[in-house]
Amino acid sequence: MFLSVLIAVSFYINPIKEFEPFSVPCEICTVIDDTNKIDQIMKAREEYIRHIKIAKANKKNQLYDKIIIVMGESVNKSHMSLYGYDFPTTPFLDSLQKTHHLYIFNAIAPTNQTRYSVPIELTEANVNYYEDRYFHSCSVLTNFKANHYETYWISNQGRVGKNDSSISSMAYEANISFFANLNYLEAKTDEVLLDYLNKLQRNSEKEMYLLHLMGSHSDYINRYKKETALFKNPKNIVEEYDNSIHYSDYILSQIYEKFKNEKLLLIYVSDHGENINLENNGHGFLPPFKDEYTVPFVIYSNVKNSRLDEIYRDNKKGYFNLENFNYIVQYVSGISNHKNLSFSRDVMAVEPSNIFNFDKLEVYK
Ligand SMILES: [Zn+2]
Repeated sequence: MFLSVLIAVSFYINPIKEFEPFSVPCEICTVIDDTNKIDQIMKAREEYIRHIKIAKANKKNQLYDKIIIVMGESVNKSHMSLYGYDFPTTPFLDSLQKTHHLYIFNAIAPTNQTRYSVPIELTEANVNYYEDRYFHSCSVLTNFKANHYETYWISNQGRVGKNDSSISSMAYEANISFFANLNYLEAKTDEVLLDYLNKLQRNSEKEMYLLHLMGSHSDYINRYKKETALFKNPKNIVEEYDNSIHYSDYILSQIYEKFKNEKLLLIYVSDHGENINLENNGHGFLPPFKDEYTVPFVIYSNVKNSRLDEIYRDNKKGYFNLENFNYIVQYVSGISNHKNLSFSRDVMAVEPSNIFNFDKLEVYK
């Protein structure tokens, strides 16, 4: 009731027809536990976004026909051979590195929770200003849509539920959104996304995809096919986790095969990392551990792109905080001239009120 009154008052004070965006009462969203009310807030965000004026880039600066963001899940980069792990968990990415068209960045995730990290990475929300900026900004899907890309959100994660609703709101910014599951507990392996991609009737030359994997979410043993596993008979949970990393690498290889002959920008990133050892694993700890933020961030481009060379040099100055991932994607794609890199060490744990300095976090021992 309180919420509906607030929304009604906001509409009254700032009618949309005047293009003064109303204020979504976002501070409530993190504490209420009522799906219907969250649904109302998300509808208010959708209405707000419809009235944002999106800057359009000069078409000649747009280098790619296919832009594909693969959003991994719970990927700790220190378990990827691409980042120096002892076991060959990422043979495809390792081979792509040899082409010299793969840029390997050092980055940290902004939070250790999916429901905050995915919005922070894809919208103007960041670690220290989450709520207001999330509710009053679009995701990159809308930015690409405004720049004449057909946009797709294709997900193997759950569509409905308190934890996913901020993500669902962004998913429906896309021209086409597809969720393989209503509930993540039902999720099959990420191959379902390949099946969907293969059946998709594609009509547009310029396309932007957000592929949201189940990746390495627990239970790890459910995230890969046993027949092709790196560790056929995993002895422990670490080997099960490594098998899930290995399987995501296979999924990436199939996506690459499908689009490699087009002007392609392929990005692999993760929402957050994962604490992985024999005693303790998972994410969402408070206080958090370093491994919950150490994520991969790699970009493949088969088109020469001086902006990628530029940000690769920038990355030598320090790890990127992926809170501004949305800017990087638009910048390297040529639909925006705002690079706006973040080198912040601030990371969020569990809820927006908990901010830590990444450098001071401990590694679980
Ligand atoms: Zn997650």
